[in-house]
Amino acid sequence: MIKTRFAPSPTGWLHIGGVRTALYSWLYARKNNGKFYLRIDDTDTTRSSDEYKNSIIFALNQLGLNYDDEIIYQSNRFDHYVDKIEQLLNDGMAYYDKVEINEKTKETDLSVQFENRLNRKGHVIRFRNQKQNSITIHDSVHGEVIFDPKVFFDVVILRSSGVPTYNLTSVVDDIDLGITHLIRGDDHLSNLPVQVNLFESFKAKVPSFSHLPMIHGVDGKRLSKRHGAVDINHFLNEGYRVDAILNYLAKTGWSHGDQEIFSIDQLIELFDLDRITKSAAAFDIEKMNWLNQHYIKNDSIENIAEQILPFLIAKELPNTPKNDKYLCDILHLGIEREYSLKNIANSITYFYENEIKYDLDIITKFEKEQTIKILRDTISKLFIVDFTDKPSISACVKATCKDLSLKFKDVGPLIRFSTTGRLNAPSIDDLCFVLGKKRVIERISRFLEIYK
Ligand code: GLU
Repeated sequence: MIKTRFAPSPTGWLHIGGVRTALYSWLYARKNNGKFYLRIDDTDTTRSSDEYKNSIIFALNQLGLNYDDEIIYQSNRFDHYVDKIEQLLNDGMAYYDKVEINEKTKETDLSVQFENRLNRKGHVIRFRNQKQNSITIHDSVHGEVIFDPKVFFDVVILRSSGVPTYNLTSVVDDIDLGITHLIRGDDHLSNLPVQVNLFESFKAKVPSFSHLPMIHGVDGKRLSKRHGAVDINHFLNEGYRVDAILNYLAKTGWSHGDQEIFSIDQLIELFDLDRITKSAAAFDIEKMNWLNQHYIKNDSIENIAEQILPFLIAKELPNTPKNDKYLCDILHLGIEREYSLKNIANSITYFYENEIKYDLDIITKFEKEQTIKILRDTISKLFIVDFTDKPSISACVKATCKDLSLKFKDVGPLIRFSTTGRLNAPSIDDLCFVLGKKRVIERISRFLEIYK
């Protein structure tokens, strides 16, 4: 059975590069009806935090990257690692080494953090790495990678603090879980010779490897905070959809012909490890926005209503938005103009206000007396129609234009401004129809009160 795993260290927020690693591992397991495990690499007790750990698990759940069985916490497995290190000591594959205190390390805290039977004060345990034979790995991304024994060295596997190190814990867990395909960032390529030799020292089968090239910014530099937020929670909080995020990340470093849009099911069907690109992929926010907008545009209004509701509620508006006909009618007015769920929510808050805030500077080009006259005339006409259809609303506006010998461009913007506080809002008949008679009359009247 195919078995993959994602093994984040909870020492920071989950980065989109990490999400891509998780996604590829998940896709490969799901494609092959295999298992996908989540392992939390929390041996570094000083840098790991519950907050990071919970946010990583939360984000993976939100993204639907479901893991099999229980989460594996390395911090629960220290005794087991000690057993494994003892096994290496007994087999002559590991040895004690005195900690050298030199200028660089003299401030190092040598106190014991994890008491165990192997601890020897002021000593580490090193892995006795073989130094005779080169190692040849076939990586599905990088092809054949040959490591010269000149680069092999005896890494520390148990610190003087009693805490086992990543290379040891990772290999022990990968063996115990029976990982068949190890997919991770290519910043771990340098750990490979030690890990392969450790697999062999434990007489375990070495898994297949896929080391994914890093994701860079469009400037070609390694993606970091300088490129804006790269933490996955930022994208979820800003209203990027899960399908868009996963589609975008799947395509960042993997391709299937020229196809751009993939549903999750298609990704599961089509994804393969041998079409991952070898060069670094660029994180292009414009493309991500485009994809997000694509998914928004192609979904039903009912679904969008449900998805934007949390963003709208977070605005704490005077009239609490609900997932109802009013919200759907609002969304029908033109959601395609916005690329994120949060932006859509922000753009329609005026539908839920009682007291629109007017920035009168926006209408300085309109003459005051005339504006009042236009709006009084419009309101009197709107008052006698029942707003059950759009043509009767348009007819009122046309009648005002005719009676006052004006053009639509002199009248329309003022109705729009008085009902929404902005000039760029949907067409007058659509807008008034959705707002309904009561709100339209109230808003225009209130505006006239403030303005006159
Ligand atoms: N905890 C390691 C990391 O986050 C895992 C590396 C691996 O996948 O082996 O980089």
